Amino acid sequence: MSTAAHVFEPPAAVTLGTWPTPVEPLTGLGTALGLGPDDLLLKRDDLTGLGGGGNKVRKLEWTAGAAVAEGADTLVTTGAPQSNHARLTAAAAARLGMRSVLVFPGAAGGSRSGNLVLDGLFGAEVVWSGAAGRTALEEAAAEVCARLRERGARPSLIPFGGSSTLGARGYVRCGQELREQVPDLRTVVVALGSGGTMAGLVASLGPERVLGVDTGALDDPAPVVAALTDSLAPGPVPAGRLRVRRDQIGAGYGTLTEPVKAALALVAETEGVVLDPIYTGRAAAGLIAAVRDGDIRPGERTVLLHTGGLPGLFGHEEAVAYAEGRTASGR
Ligand SMILES: *Cc1c(COP(=O)(O)O)cnc(C)c1O
Repeated sequence: MSTAAHVFEPPAAVTLGTWPTPVEPLTGLGTALGLGPDDLLLKRDDLTGLGGGGNKVRKLEWTAGAAVAEGADTLVTTGAPQSNHARLTAAAAARLGMRSVLVFPGAAGGSRSGNLVLDGLFGAEVVWSGAAGRTALEEAAAEVCARLRERGARPSLIPFGGSSTLGARGYVRCGQELREQVPDLRTVVVALGSGGTMAGLVASLGPERVLGVDTGALDDPAPVVAALTDSLAPGPVPAGRLRVRRDQIGAGYGTLTEPVKAALALVAETEGVVLDPIYTGRAAAGLIAAVRDGDIRPGERTVLLHTGGLPGLFGHEEAVAYAEGRTASGR
């Protein structure tokens, strides 16, 4: 037995994306925020390639890789109807010659826009489980897997948001890319949903250099991130040492806040870069708030991690109305 028994040793990943993702200057945005012209950079994990791109591709290289190694023929996962993770799980299944089943809460018949359009194109089977809440959704997914097995299929259940120890491994690799691309990195700002993205970055870069902006997807994300980080790298990081902002949640996960609207417009107008209302818009709003309260300062190299989510913009009625309203008014 190894003495460091909890050091995680992954099975082989499959390649699904295009690496490394680029890092670009955000001169216009940085200047607009009162930072130096070279202070702010964008790490483009929206350009990961597969299925419209986004952070879930890095995680799926490991989780879908494990499914391939197990001999699975179907990827099953859960999420909100506009889940980017579900969309990219469907794309990964298509790429790997597997079927996919996406288990969503609630009932069919809502808006069929955004990510749901792409789920259909990737050939996913969507199960509207009627479930309300995370536990009920996990139970519904387990039942779907049981039914698939009865029919002779070999399902592999990909965890919520891809945020297992295995999935988070994908962001350890992103941290390694950042260390090479931005050696003087002081802070990387990342949207915090199911926690795996932040955990992998913390395992690679340490807790001081990663600022998570909570989206409200989990009730209490810091312990989740801390536990995932601990499973990835030796030496536990107490939840209290993580940099997590919880001031951008507004009325809850799916809601669009005024600071996020302002951030979507500012980043689009200063950089020609599109963010989404749930994740990257909150990360940018958290970055703006961090500059205002002095947590991020001029002269420090700061990276905004673009984790994708563009289809979600088109699946968010309020965000669409907000953007349309700007064209109508000329502003
Ligand atoms: C899922 C997601 C996140 C959050 O990543 P987690 O690992 O779940 O915390 C951020 N941005 C986008 C666009 C996402 O889809």
